[in-house]
Amino acid sequence: MARTAAEGMSPSGGAPDRRRSTVAPVVPTPEARVRLRPIGFPGARIDAGFWSEKLRTNLERTIPHGASMLEACGNLTNFELAAGAEGRYQGAEGDGGNPAPFLDSDVYKWLEAVGWSLAQGERPELRALAEPMIELAARAQRPDGYVDSFYQVAKPGFEFSDMEWGHELYVAGHLLQAAVAWKRSLGDDRLLQIAERFVERIEAEIGPGRREAICGHPEFEMALVELYRTTGERRYLDFARTLIDRRGRGLLGSCRYGARFWQDHEPVRSALEPAGHAVRQMYLDCGVVDVAVETGDQDLLDSALRRWDSMLASFTYLTGGLGVHHQDEAFGAAFELPPDRAYTETCAAIGGAMLGWRLLLATGEERFADMIERQAYNAILPALAADGSSFFYSNPLMQRSTIPEVLEGIATTRRTSWPRIACCPPNLMRFLATLQDFAVTADDAGLQIHQYVSGSFAAEIGGGRVSIAARTEYPWEGVVDITIEHSIDRPWTLSMRVPSWCPNATATVAGETVTCGNTDRIEISRVWKPGDLVRLLLDMSPRLTAPDPRIDAVRACVALERGPLVYAVEDADLPSGTSVESLEIASLPDVLVDVRGAGESGEMVWLEFDGLLRSDAANSWPYGRVEPSIARRAHPARLRALPYFAWGNRPGRGMRIWIPRRP
Ligand SMILES: [Zn+2]
Repeated sequence: MARTAAEGMSPSGGAPDRRRSTVAPVVPTPEARVRLRPIGFPGARIDAGFWSEKLRTNLERTIPHGASMLEACGNLTNFELAAGAEGRYQGAEGDGGNPAPFLDSDVYKWLEAVGWSLAQGERPELRALAEPMIELAARAQRPDGYVDSFYQVAKPGFEFSDMEWGHELYVAGHLLQAAVAWKRSLGDDRLLQIAERFVERIEAEIGPGRREAICGHPEFEMALVELYRTTGERRYLDFARTLIDRRGRGLLGSCRYGARFWQDHEPVRSALEPAGHAVRQMYLDCGVVDVAVETGDQDLLDSALRRWDSMLASFTYLTGGLGVHHQDEAFGAAFELPPDRAYTETCAAIGGAMLGWRLLLATGEERFADMIERQAYNAILPALAADGSSFFYSNPLMQRSTIPEVLEGIATTRRTSWPRIACCPPNLMRFLATLQDFAVTADDAGLQIHQYVSGSFAAEIGGGRVSIAARTEYPWEGVVDITIEHSIDRPWTLSMRVPSWCPNATATVAGETVTCGNTDRIEISRVWKPGDLVRLLLDMSPRLTAPDPRIDAVRACVALERGPLVYAVEDADLPSGTSVESLEIASLPDVLVDVRGAGESGEMVWLEFDGLLRSDAANSWPYGRVEPSIARRAHPARLRALPYFAWGNRPGRGMRIWIPRRP
């Protein structure tokens, strides 16, 4: 693996140079064994098009909504109580009837989202909401450095006693990530001071050479590595590596879901497949990759790559959603991917994209960018309502039209303003606040475009600073125009991902056309001049997708896809008196046509197809001999499907992605 230098860190790994530092959530040190390096702010900017609108909604609606919900749900009250106010700990009731111990983490995730947002430009209204929270966290911190309102208020004296369910390091990890965001974005180290004091307190208890313990919910590991990258303090990296090496040795023991639930069933280096709670596995592997690239530990990196390959091959929904079981929010068995009983927590997909990003930086392989794209459009964005202020926690691939309405709890039939366990909404806010970062990377040879968005991207490459501007109507259209804005006097390479779903991609520059060979990218190397234009054409023909037959729950079904988008059919688009349960499709390759039309948040591309609607006359027994079953009457109908991310914004409950295929 080539060594590359991250911008802004001094060669000794000391404090970053504020002027040139890369403002991004993941910034490997110059010594890290990574192939690509992030651009971050201020180099990366999305300024028009599909995602620009989503990012604006996040800034103007979603993040302010989050602040009012944190206030209303008592998350901020808990900090007040920890700081000395009188009252009872506020919190959602957990499974055992006890208040949830991780509510502080939602405040930190929200602060992280604001930190990254302020890097893109001052927003007085967001800063005004954030300031009191930062002051609260400072006031809540005890003189010994400890800060966790659950233990300070609800369980004083029991710190570090419940490593299984207490979530202390998980909460601390989110504090660290918020601290890194404010430090990198604004040079503001108030949260960083709180974070470092808390880490010192944690080290004294369970740091290297102290009591051997790990947290039931990974998260702290990757946060410690980023704290190391921000401060240059090597001991944070050592602590992260120690926590990873301790895992899989039974320190947490078993629980009602088994030791796999918290990835303590097998040492990280030898675990072959993703296991247990999906978010925990993703967060753990983020830390694994971070430690591996910073310590040059190929064996450790290989273990994460092995689990990622296994996850893609057997444990991932078409949407990129992760985690099947409702009971333990966990991966199921291989190919156990039921559409209607899919759990697919929003946080798990976000964790998947965070992991994919780290693996992309480490390896330079576009397959990771492919999955980030799939998850961003089809497993993360669907969680957010068109109006930006209600959320799905669980993202099933089918919802029956007859399901009773559920608006409480976490597997709701509609998006709700704030789920009972509210990990997902602020996670979504911080993900959207950093979306620019996923689009383009740099190395000494040039720039690599991984995600197609309208925006501008500038970076130092070997020999100087280069920048490009991209214009596109992606994901609705497959044309991407890339203009060179600044260049250098020697040849450099512009690399463009060719998505794995795309059968045909070409790029034209100065009248010359370059086609994609058998690779995951088109690369053009030349002496670029300002004003040079590259036009990339990606074939966006709609397609029918079939599942591996081992995914029994959707065997003999097809899904409709176009470009990076997975499509779904909703009751709202079916003739009255019919529902998605009645739907079948004749699986001819030419049944699909794309059409532009109005959507819940502007114009979008729908898919029209020849469907079949069965008569759903009541049966006394819903089974029968094969013959009569096939002969059941169905009448053809021209129907339409909408992008899955847009579902659930209209009346009606029924929705399905997988459609049974008429033999
Ligand atoms: Zn969540």
